[in-house]
Amino acid sequence: RYSTAAVVEEPINPSVNVNYTQLLINGQFVDAATGKTFETLDPRTGNVIASVAEGDAEDVNRAVSAARKAFDEGPWPRMSPYERSKILLRFADLLEKHNDEIAALETWDNGKPFEQAAKAEVPLVIRLMRYYAGWADKIHGLTVPADGLHQVQTLHEPIGVAGQIIPWNFPLLMYAWKIGPALACGNTIVLKTAEQTPLSALYASKLLHEAGLPPGVLNVVSGYGPTAGAALASHMDVDKLAFTGSTATGKIVLQLAARSNLKPVTLELGGKSPFIVCEDANVDEAVELAHFALFFNQGQCCCAGSRTFVHESIYDEFVEKAKARALRRTVGDPFKAGIEQGPQIDSDQFEKILRYIRSGVENGATLETGGERFGKEGFFIKPTVFSNVQDGMLIAQDEIFGPVQSILKFKDLGEVIRRANATSYGLAAGVFTQNLDTANTLTRALKVGTVWINCFDVFDAAIPFGGYKMSGHGREKGIYSLQNYLQVKAVITPLKNPAW
Ligand code: NAD
Repeated sequence: RYSTAAVVEEPINPSVNVNYTQLLINGQFVDAATGKTFETLDPRTGNVIASVAEGDAEDVNRAVSAARKAFDEGPWPRMSPYERSKILLRFADLLEKHNDEIAALETWDNGKPFEQAAKAEVPLVIRLMRYYAGWADKIHGLTVPADGLHQVQTLHEPIGVAGQIIPWNFPLLMYAWKIGPALACGNTIVLKTAEQTPLSALYASKLLHEAGLPPGVLNVVSGYGPTAGAALASHMDVDKLAFTGSTATGKIVLQLAARSNLKPVTLELGGKSPFIVCEDANVDEAVELAHFALFFNQGQCCCAGSRTFVHESIYDEFVEKAKARALRRTVGDPFKAGIEQGPQIDSDQFEKILRYIRSGVENGATLETGGERFGKEGFFIKPTVFSNVQDGMLIAQDEIFGPVQSILKFKDLGEVIRRANATSYGLAAGVFTQNLDTANTLTRALKVGTVWINCFDVFDAAIPFGGYKMSGHGREKGIYSLQNYLQVKAVITPLKNPAW
């Protein structure tokens, strides 16, 4: 039985205006060179929220020129790091002041529950901006004890113009992960938002300029991947590229970077993360955490715990309880209080997820609950649980990116380690156990960038995030992200008076 929170016939009207729909180039909101626009949709209904300027190669050229001039001639890389830090701190204050407006825009454009956007995503963005504001005046090189009569030091310099391409699942958080470290290090930026979710980044960037960011330092181009995105990835005057999205697109942008000017690329790509529930687990707690690990954000997380491995001794009880928990999940208008799950982002993802569900049934997994659309309009899908999932099934191999939990059975630790690692992805893993030795063994054996033990989706600004294998290159957040946006210059001077 689902909660009473059905899809409302009349969706709640968000209390926010869409003020910014143009491209942001050199500190000004401008139309696309072609004059073209595209529509961004409300995933609750499929109705149009706004027409947004559609950037293309010519706009990317304009944006890169502005960023280049701001880097080569402007104040940003030259001002004292403390001044840069103060601008980022003022930006964080403005985000805090407008927390609920930005969260409403995010919910409207993306479909995520407003409570989660307002209480988790926007506050994480604010925290991250303050974290990187703190780094701005603590970035420095080393004195190196080289052989011979030389004094050697390293200078850590900003890399130049950063191109950044972000996805639609956490539009504002991905924006923050990208711009925070790049700005702290003194770079300038051209950022392309996802075509499904252009609104919150434009609003936030307006606030960043209000906080004192000089024109040209951050340029935001809305538009499609194969046009605006590809133009940015292959631009000869972009010095570094950072990308988050699918592994397939990650391969494309890496090739575009290599074929153009060999710009260094960081990639945050897909995942098929194992969530391993060991035999000593408290089943109720494990069910709740595994549910959160998969269903959070409508299942649209690159690190979603999308292969729930459960020890055979507790498997049947776990499946029963996981099904009951999915049935209790509240689905409906994400603006309504108490709603845990809103719509999927768009009709493409909606159809793709339903195709995966059909393949699960056809391949012989047991559909415990869900498996179909929820309500009559928009892109809602019922929380879905499959048991008796086998490793070779498509639903156990591909990134579904939706509210579909696959529960697999295992017998012993060696077996689950081998099966958990038998994927081309390596983004994250969840481990649920009270046994320290088991936790340590799994932590060391799993080929993933993040291991959450008895927790999941902890996204503190200081904790690095990124993938092994085809989940990506490099790390974002924390101290690690700074390296993506710095060049190291070695400076060698002869020592004339070594006797000292
Ligand atoms: P995508 O990789 O196509 O899009 C991500 C970003 O890349 C968007 O800004 C898009 O416009 C841009 N892009 C697309 N093609 C490009 C190109 N040729 N050159 C440059 N940029 C390009 O992802 P999607 O189509 O939105 O989603 C497809 C699948 O990707 C999802 O089902 C999911 O499996 C995965 N995904 C992963 C993440 C993640 O955080 N790892 C986020 C979103 C989607």
